[in-house]
Amino acid sequence: MTIRNLIFSAQKTAMNDKAQLLVSAFSSYEQLDEATVSEVIHSVNDLHTSRVLVTDPYGYCIYDSFSNGSAAGKLTLYPEVAEALSGSDVVYIRFEHNVFLSKAAMPITAYNRLIGAVYLLENNDDLAALILRLQRTILWISIGLEAVILFYSISFSTIFARRIRKIFDSVQKMHNGDYSIRLPERGHDEIARLGRAFNDLAERLNQSEEVRKQFVSNASHELKTPLASIKLLTDSILQNAMSQSTMEEFVSDIGQEADRLTRLTAKLLELTRLDSKPAETVAPVSVEEVCDRVLRMLTPMARKQLIQLSLDCSPGCTVYCAEDDLYQIVFNLVENGVKYNLDRGAVDIRAQEDETAVRITVADTGVGIPEDAKAHIFERFYRVDKARSRKAGGAGLGLSIVHDMVLRNGGSIRVEDREPNGTVFVVEFPKRTVRGKEGAVV
Ligand code: ADP
Repeated sequence: MTIRNLIFSAQKTAMNDKAQLLVSAFSSYEQLDEATVSEVIHSVNDLHTSRVLVTDPYGYCIYDSFSNGSAAGKLTLYPEVAEALSGSDVVYIRFEHNVFLSKAAMPITAYNRLIGAVYLLENNDDLAALILRLQRTILWISIGLEAVILFYSISFSTIFARRIRKIFDSVQKMHNGDYSIRLPERGHDEIARLGRAFNDLAERLNQSEEVRKQFVSNASHELKTPLASIKLLTDSILQNAMSQSTMEEFVSDIGQEADRLTRLTAKLLELTRLDSKPAETVAPVSVEEVCDRVLRMLTPMARKQLIQLSLDCSPGCTVYCAEDDLYQIVFNLVENGVKYNLDRGAVDIRAQEDETAVRITVADTGVGIPEDAKAHIFERFYRVDKARSRKAGGAGLGLSIVHDMVLRNGGSIRVEDREPNGTVFVVEFPKRTVRGKEGAVV
């Protein structure tokens, strides 16, 4: 309820009480005349009204405090009086043109008979002044509040627009290839969160850009070496007169370098495929069948180095993954086991499963991997012994391919030492319980 309404309501009650007071003072008379009315009105204290008017039951004036007796007997034409004579109580409060006017009219009944009506009028200057003062104060307060709100809205929208512009400019810079750009991370509002998300994205793009540059530079370097050898060999053939057997040797070297290039490009393509394509459709794959195929492929290479290959697979051991991926994983690990082995060494493959996982281990009796190199061997182009790896035809990509393939099939890989010498790679796939077509639990 507003203050204005409170004043109105208090005044309404006051007017009603005053009219009621007069009506009850008159109710003990059977009939009213000017002398009685005047006597009663003067006997009532605390009336404080501008005008008191009393009529007979027909609306003719008996007493009017305004007229000094001249209005007596004249018909009263006020609508409030007419309403009171028809039996209703009327209280009317109005504040208009800086004037606070209150009116009240009530029927006077005595012994269940209408004997007249009382009409009160009050022109209250104090209340008018109070309301005016209040209105003025409220006006100033609202102007002040609006000014404060306006000030804050303008400041807020300016700051907001500046921060948005900063984000927009940063996005533009990032779009042009500047990934070093960062936004301030102060605050906890939505824009600060947007800033943090932007910085996170910029950081990731920066990292992947670094990785991309490193990859391109490593790949170019790897491609350059065999190409330089081929160029050298062909120049030698063209420039020097040489015997048939030397020439055949040089041509065979060119062939070997070409083979190295083929292997390298195949691995690069494999990595690009891994980066861009999601895992192929996975299905239950028999580990024994895959390992058998790998052994058949690598036995000739192992025989050349007098290396013994063996397989110990628990019956029915199954992994839920892409079959080609599993083949490539086992192939690369066994091939490395042979490449980095000692003469008359061995590579043993074991596959076991328990309640939770399928574990494939590839253990060799080779040169082993130094402790500090273990953290890096799954990185692209990383080689422990560069000369040996290059001689063996490697480019440091085999294990990173294995690593990416294991991960995208939901598995994990780690490397351990084998006693007394050699290396063990342990690949684990979580065991999944899936119903096959025939309803068998896999
Ligand atoms: P590469 O094609 O050069 O063999 P990989 O990514 O397969 O590349 O291996 C990375 C490096 O890890 C190799 O250069 C080699 O030094 C080392 N490495 C990998 N497997 C073995 C292993 N079984 N025994 C010893 N060293 C290994």
